[in-house]
Amino acid sequence: MTRRREILATGIVQGVGFRPFVFRIARRHGLAGTVCNTSEGVRIAVEGTDDQIAGFLEAFEAELPPLAHVTSMKITEARPAGLNGFEILPSTDDDAHEALVPPDVSVCQNCLRELADDNDRRYRYPFINCTDCGPRYTIIADVPYDREQTSMIDFPMCKHCTGEYKNPADRRFHAEATCCGNCGPSLRICDNRNSEIKTDDPIAYAHEKLHEGAIVAVKGIGGFHLAVDAMNHTAVENLRERKGRGFKPFALMADTVERIRIFCHMSDDEEKMLASAIRPIMILRKREPNPITEGVAPGNSYFGVMLPYTPVHRLLLGDDFSALVMTSGNLADEPIVIDDTAFARLGHVADYFLTHNRRILHRADDSVVKIINGKQQLWRRSRGYVPRPITMQHEAPPILACGGMMKNTIALTRGRDVFLSQHMGDIDSEEGLTFFEETIEHLKRMLGIQPRIIAHDLHPDYLSTQYALASGIENKIGVQHHAAHIAACQYEHQITDRKVIGIALDGTGYGLDGNVWGGEVLVGRPPDYERAAHFEYVPMPGGEQAIRQPWRMAVSYLMATLGREYRALPLRFIAPHGHELYDVETLAERRINSPLTSSCGRLFDAVSAMLGLADAATFEGEPAARLEMEATPNDALPYGYELIHAKDAPTIISTKEMFRAIAKDIAGGTSPGDIAWRFHLTLIDVFAKLAAELRDRTNINTVAFGGGVFLNQIMLTGLTEKLTAQGLEVYSPEQAPPGDGGISLGQIAVAAASERTG
Ligand code: ZN
Ligand code: ZN
Ligand code: FE
Repeated sequence: MTRRREILATGIVQGVGFRPFVFRIARRHGLAGTVCNTSEGVRIAVEGTDDQIAGFLEAFEAELPPLAHVTSMKITEARPAGLNGFEILPSTDDDAHEALVPPDVSVCQNCLRELADDNDRRYRYPFINCTDCGPRYTIIADVPYDREQTSMIDFPMCKHCTGEYKNPADRRFHAEATCCGNCGPSLRICDNRNSEIKTDDPIAYAHEKLHEGAIVAVKGIGGFHLAVDAMNHTAVENLRERKGRGFKPFALMADTVERIRIFCHMSDDEEKMLASAIRPIMILRKREPNPITEGVAPGNSYFGVMLPYTPVHRLLLGDDFSALVMTSGNLADEPIVIDDTAFARLGHVADYFLTHNRRILHRADDSVVKIINGKQQLWRRSRGYVPRPITMQHEAPPILACGGMMKNTIALTRGRDVFLSQHMGDIDSEEGLTFFEETIEHLKRMLGIQPRIIAHDLHPDYLSTQYALASGIENKIGVQHHAAHIAACQYEHQITDRKVIGIALDGTGYGLDGNVWGGEVLVGRPPDYERAAHFEYVPMPGGEQAIRQPWRMAVSYLMATLGREYRALPLRFIAPHGHELYDVETLAERRINSPLTSSCGRLFDAVSAMLGLADAATFEGEPAARLEMEATPNDALPYGYELIHAKDAPTIISTKEMFRAIAKDIAGGTSPGDIAWRFHLTLIDVFAKLAAELRDRTNINTVAFGGGVFLNQIMLTGLTEKLTAQGLEVYSPEQAPPGDGGISLGQIAVAAASERTG
């Protein structure tokens, strides 16, 4: 007897070879029926016997395409229509927009094989892709995912490609972005004034120029990279100088895992992540000595490394570069360049431009991942992850969270899914703000979300706050920065119903008292947290300037503990800044242009400057990173500190005793490595002790971490171990960045909870 089942599959089911897969297994089980993309997901109808249908459903589960991610399957019984054969129907476009757009996927093994095969018609064709691989999110304008909705609409398929696209036996059956040398995009190479250089092989030309030491801007999936030969000292220095980049490390790309092993240490977990379809930049420990020129990551213990993820990269690398520097094609903290404005914006940096005519509709930087104790830590969540949702505990109304200011992301909710945008960098520029607004509009359209609630930071000067306050959405919720950090961690671990002891350690966040917070212990659950403890306030002499010049913070702490006597200490910053010291001391003393801060980041800055490790912060968190890398494990005990308890007020963490001891150590000639280690131990001890006290007082047994300080591996690992040993359950951010890239997620958590509790 013939039966009919209708199935609606939702999740990441488009752009991942899903319809061809359904087609194949349906035919294999002798079923008639149809499959079709809709904006809700994929609709399937099958007609056949019970046995055939059961076999089909079994195969459905067992053989799901590797990139598919089914979040729900609705199966209903219906009256058979007496269909013959199985058919892929054209997409329907209703307005539900439930379908999930897939993230961009690195080029697959099958395509690489064809790319290298001189008998294949796509031999060395730099835009080869298939149902399993290629750009997605960055080229999709709207759902459902069909060629017409992507920037591939500019390239009508040739007869040959159409044949493959329509042939169920072909691996490009319904590959929406498929193309070939006859019909698809093409590369060109230009000088830095956009005049094309005549050559049959732009890639070979660029390859050659890289060997000669040139800087080449390369258009990729989510934007331009700037490439140079990582073995060429002069080329790397040129790039650093022209980009005005300070000491911030450059990312590397090398063609094989084996090659990367020559200059990096790598665990199995790290190798797996590195080679995954996401292809992020992995933070890997440097091997010493190594052949990469020092200027790639000066004074750093790590390299950021990735494998090629597009056919262009693969061809450009060839097999004779140890590694190429591949750094984002942007200026300072501006968004990455995606179009022909590249010539105007990067013309003074790059000598050549290897570019192409497939439009990038949405920029996406490379994602950056570190693996710590087998767990992933996202330093930047972007290409390959976006727009894959993070699932939450409860369903929420449609909320838009605007995030913060630095390393910003935005987030939108739909049901139980939170969609975190790609990394946008700092939105404190015209380009940055435009990118921010475009991303909001784009995600809203693609996901079919009309937000009813808008969540934002409390900082009145953040452009994201101003955007929210000016928006037409009436229901606005301001979320304190550190509450957002803790809520984000609780959210991804689905523990928002539980009260936690939240340890939020970062550089800057607007506090409820108007001061700059950043070393905070909060107790509660979204939406309500109580400030239980914080570092003692110190002045930031000169405000923002104290972030770029960490020695100002050293002066501030030293003035608070030793007064002007600190000048007798053998501190490296005293000589170069002798003429400025008096002014900075006065600013701090009289609190002129010196906001008060409880920041943990500024505490790291001060100690780093005292040890002579960083005279200026040429990138965010540099002094702290140098302090971490300097620390040499030893069996010292923590320095002393004081917890000042008060009734009905937060506990104050005073580090004066520690500063006195560090001053004494410096005077006595203790090595910076030993002092740096003891400093870390002290902070770990502070928060372990506070957590123990709070547990005894509140019976709360769970600790959640948040804030950029947790990118510091000594802090994360040390504090986790110590708290766990004390019997506490510890959670840290894994799916969203611990730093400000996770703020929007936390804002969602708080807004959703306050909506739920009224
Ligand atoms: Zn492929
Ligand atoms: Zn073609
Ligand atoms: Fe923060």
